[in-house]
Amino acid sequence: MTADCLFCRIARKEIPATIVAESEFCLAFRDIKAQAPVHVLVVPREHVGSLNELKDRAILGHMFSLAAQVVHAEGMSERGYRAVINTNDDGGQTVFHLHLHVLGGRRMSWPPG
Ligand code: 5GP
Ligand code: ZN
Repeated sequence: MTADCLFCRIARKEIPATIVAESEFCLAFRDIKAQAPVHVLVVPREHVGSLNELKDRAILGHMFSLAAQVVHAEGMSERGYRAVINTNDDGGQTVFHLHLHVLGGRRMSWPPG
């Protein structure tokens, strides 16, 4: 937990966000600048700066488990979706609290930009 981390503050409900699912360990909320009809961020409640700083691998299981609930609730499982973790500069990470992007509701292109 860090006092001025944006996603820690969202997890503590100090900053509003459209929360779509919650678990003991994670929170899922809509991205403020959605890149697809469905764009949800899944974050651990505990502060982890990036995938590089992850010590407890179980956190990833909790994140993907909540992501699966969101995918089901948004009706995306059959048509498909993308789940991605951007890490550091080359990965395009801009918020340094670990988060899983869950994108769907349109066809994704590959390779990514
Ligand atoms: P990154 O670029 O680090 O992989 O993803 C950070 C994401 O957080 C971006 O897609 C950005 O739109 C989203 N974001 C940044 N600030 C806020 C905010 O205050 N609220 C919400 N809901 N999303 C945010
Ligand atoms: Zn944080």
